[in-house]
Amino acid sequence: MDLSPEPMERLALTLLGPIIGSCLGLVTLRLPAGAPIGIARSACGGCGRKLGPLDLVPLLSWATLGGRCRTCRAPIPLRYPFLEASCALIGLWAALAFDGPLAAATAAFGWWLLLAAFIDGEHFWLPARLTVPLLIGGLAVAAAFQPAALSGRLIGAAVGWLSLALLALAYRRLRGRDGLGGGDPLMLGALGAWVGWQGIPSLVLVAALLGLGVALAQRRLKADARLPFGTLMAAGAWLIWLYGPISH
Ligand SMILES: [Zn+2]
Repeated sequence: MDLSPEPMERLALTLLGPIIGSCLGLVTLRLPAGAPIGIARSACGGCGRKLGPLDLVPLLSWATLGGRCRTCRAPIPLRYPFLEASCALIGLWAALAFDGPLAAATAAFGWWLLLAAFIDGEHFWLPARLTVPLLIGGLAVAAAFQPAALSGRLIGAAVGWLSLALLALAYRRLRGRDGLGGGDPLMLGALGAWVGWQGIPSLVLVAALLGLGVALAQRRLKADARLPFGTLMAAGAWLIWLYGPISH
């Protein structure tokens, strides 16, 4: 019988994903609303009934209940099945890309990226409560698993933050308004702590190409079209972390 750790690890991270996703769903509602995140049990937004264990099985509850509350039939916010399924995919992806503790760290990185991307996408808002832990996490993972890369990660954090902070400053001078979200410089700094300075050009390129794709798809390629840059950078960071900088 094959008892190598990889299949177990893939299974564990894939199954952990939906549970994490369920918690993220709650955070995406409570954090922007300024509500305490805590461990208070969730209630139905329609009838206020406290949700029991049977309502809280990720994905399965949603699927078996037909996407509605079992008492008042109010629709369950689609963010829950979306985040639960996405987190399962991220867990599996991380376990396929890396082994051991690095796979777990990668999954945690991906889940956190998804949270930041979702909140920035919905609210154009990247609070330090999301970016600072990401920055610390990147440096901690480097220190623990890739100590030789730590200096490159520190430089990456500084370069990431500085480049967007200076760009934002220049834009404000030239155009007299903000062209970047206030949290974007710290976001790129935090992502630089994961991909290192070597990964930043590729990350920004991937983010820009994704943004162009989205803008074209939405047919709103205008100078004032607003896209959540943090969401695009998060997607870029995930790919660069997994597959490395684009080489020529
Ligand atoms: Zn209800």
